[in-house]
Formats: sequence, structure tokens, C-alpha cells
Amino acid sequence: MVKRSARRKSVHVMFVYTGGCNGCEIEIANALFSPYYDLEQYRVMMTFNPREADVLIVTGPITKRNEPQLKAIYERIPEPKAVIACGACAIVGGIYVNLYGELGPSDQIRGPLGNILPVDASARGCAPRPEEIIRAVSSVIPKIVEAK
Ligand code: SF4
Repeated sequence: MVKRSARRKSVHVMFVYTGGCNGCEIEIANALFSPYYDLEQYRVMMTFNPREADVLIVTGPITKRNEPQLKAIYERIPEPKAVIACGACAIVGGIYVNLYGELGPSDQIRGPLGNILPVDASARGCAPRPEEIIRAVSSVIPKIVEAK
């Protein structure tokens, strides 16, 4: 009951890094949750537990190797949930499209995140500006809050 009440009053985002350059992670972890942007003042919290998450933010290129783990994390997130593709790598493969293919079959790019998960919003850029990520998170909050 306490858990349900807490979930109604806040939105928890979980971000998963699939192997990019860390630029997107810096914008999320170091900028969005810094005192300057301070997403927590709007009751948007960060979590690393999929069972607590409402929004999955994926950064980095999606490869054959990380696809199963990504799907498993998505399945563990309870409904209602939303997915955000953050950055050019998650949206289209970015600068790694050709490079990863040279490393081995399991590192082949699976293409846009939308090929393997239902994407609700995208944060465009390389890396996306914090304002762009906030716009993407804001766009999925109604879907989460209205269904809780
Ligand atoms: S989108 Fe750009 S900043 Fe983000 S992980 Fe890919 S290369 Fe790095």
C-alpha cells in the first residue's frame, strides 16, 4: 500500500547504457539530477531497480549482444511503463552503425531501439541537451500518471 501510494505520487526513471560513449549518461546522471536541473523537485526520481521503474531510458547502440538483457529489463518493469530512446545511438545506431559490425557477429547493430521495444518518445541529439531529455520525459509522464 505504501509502495502503491509512493508510485502514484512520483515517476521513477531507470536508464540503461548499452555501450555508447558515455556522453548521454553524463547528461542524464550528472546534469538532469544535478542541483541545476534537479528533476527530483518535480518528483522524477532515478532508480536502478526495474521493479521500481516507470520509464526506461535507453542510451547507446542496440546490439545483438545486449538485446536479450534489454528485453529482460523491460519485462521486469511493471505497467504502466514507457520507453525513451535517448541519443542518436539508441534512435538509429548513431556513429556505431558500421564500427560495431567489424567487431564480431554479436556486436552487430540491431538498428533503432524501436525494432525491439515499443518506444514512446525520443530525445534527439548526440548527446541530447538536458532540455531535450526533460522534454522527452515530460511527454511520457501523462501516460504513466493517468494509468496509475
Ligand atoms: S548518442 Fe552520442 S553522446 Fe550518446 S552515446 Fe551515442 S555517441 Fe555518445
